[in-house]
Amino acid sequence: MKEIIYRSTRSNAEALAPSKALLKGLAPDGGLYVPNAAPLLSDIASNIGCTSDAEVLEKLSKLPYKEVAYEVLRVFLTDYTEEELRYCVNGAYDTKFDTPEIAPLIEKDGRYYLELFHGATIAFKDMALSILPYLMTTAAKKNGVDDEIVILTATSGDTGKAALAGFADVPGTRIIVFYPKHGVSPVQEKQMVTQRGANTRVIGIEGNFDDAQNGVKAMFSDKELEKILAERGYRFSSANSINIGRLVPQVAYYVWSYVQLLAKGVIKNGDKINVTVPTGNFGNILAGYYAKKMGVPINMLVCASNENKVLFDFFATGEYDKNREFKLTSSPSMDILISSNLERLIFEAVGQDADKCAKLMKALVTDGKYELTEAEKDALSSFIGGWTDEDGTAAEIKKVYEGADYVMDTHTSVASSVARSFVNSAASLKEAGVDAALPMVVVSTASPFKFTRSVMSAIDKKYEEMEDFDLIDELSRMTGIKVPQAIEDIRTAPVLHNIVCETEKMQEEVLKFLQ
Ligand SMILES: *Cc1c(COP(=O)(O)O)cnc(C)c1O
Repeated sequence: MKEIIYRSTRSNAEALAPSKALLKGLAPDGGLYVPNAAPLLSDIASNIGCTSDAEVLEKLSKLPYKEVAYEVLRVFLTDYTEEELRYCVNGAYDTKFDTPEIAPLIEKDGRYYLELFHGATIAFKDMALSILPYLMTTAAKKNGVDDEIVILTATSGDTGKAALAGFADVPGTRIIVFYPKHGVSPVQEKQMVTQRGANTRVIGIEGNFDDAQNGVKAMFSDKELEKILAERGYRFSSANSINIGRLVPQVAYYVWSYVQLLAKGVIKNGDKINVTVPTGNFGNILAGYYAKKMGVPINMLVCASNENKVLFDFFATGEYDKNREFKLTSSPSMDILISSNLERLIFEAVGQDADKCAKLMKALVTDGKYELTEAEKDALSSFIGGWTDEDGTAAEIKKVYEGADYVMDTHTSVASSVARSFVNSAASLKEAGVDAALPMVVVSTASPFKFTRSVMSAIDKKYEEMEDFDLIDELSRMTGIKVPQAIEDIRTAPVLHNIVCETEKMQEEVLKFLQ
């Protein structure tokens, strides 16, 4: 099996073993870690006694989620031992998930919804954040790190709670979460501010998600702060989607969705599929890109945006331009104008030229935009962008509920709506060489119970008058689905976190918590 090491997207500084890159989170030069070579299905093949990609897919189609995840992790995180990885996978994908399938693939209305919301916080972030604490504490042990690891996170809503749930009371760790005080749903906020665990702190900021993310990034690259914290016995790490420990576990469910289609007889081995992903920070869909690079027969990765359609414009023109009005939508986890993980794709597009990549990222900071050349744009050919507005999001929820008796959350609805338009334009896309008629997987990123108000109002305006928890009960009655434990928990849980600060005061708050 080939060793994988991780290098920065912004300089040719020393590459690190997977466990070290995972501990660091962000590279010291501000870049993101990327694998020095693409892990392939053929690397899995040699691990499980297969001789071809097709054989690997066939074999994986008979395995449970945990085993598929293990095989994928193994070829990305090559300095972890088998025993270590099995420990991590078994600890993560257990009864915290409300179904033994972990990530069910549900056929509705001609599309295949990959439900990634069966974990502790009922959103897809659980897929990676349930395993990250295991990967990280194992990495610390392997590398002789004695400092307490401080997870510093900016969240647009779902990451925060999923990270808190993953790290709460994990020995040797602390976790600090910053969220935009006025930019998350009431349920998202309640989930976070009721978090138990003496090692947790949740702080609202008077700013949007990008402000929170920029504040966190600034602290990560602040050498002075690093020194102060080292003296106190702390070191930062990141649970944000830039960490390879977030990215790699996500690759697993793309492999999984393909082999599930195979297992269900929807496709023949080797047939291609399309995938639509509701996108914000570009972490989820990037994992799909890595799965494709591994050799999973994915044709197009359809990148679905809400009204903050920076990525749609980028894929259409090759220009990334964040200079625009920031919109608050009913899919808040996609309300993002700087998609951090896109940097990894840009690095590929510029031919892995770190200096070029660093220049573009600098332009993004100074001018708020950058543009790829025609040749560089060619590297984006696996992607196509789509977007839908607030009316389109609501209409899609209603349509799929009435037509297929399936209730989706708002984020999934953005993807579902974009997937529908994509398939409807099959004829014109064919001229452009894109096959939109292939089986379509729609990545389903949150339970409708997490965004009940928007979901129910989309189905019928009469619900606008009702109280949040009455809506939740009504949704449960309508769907016959039991109210998820994550929601039950917050009905009565006391608020334990009430700090709100200005963006400029983020560092001060961190130092207060880390005495
Ligand atoms: C985080 C999130 C997204 C966006 O995922 P990215 O990896 O940031 O692109 C979409 N939907 C939900 C529900 C999320 O929590």
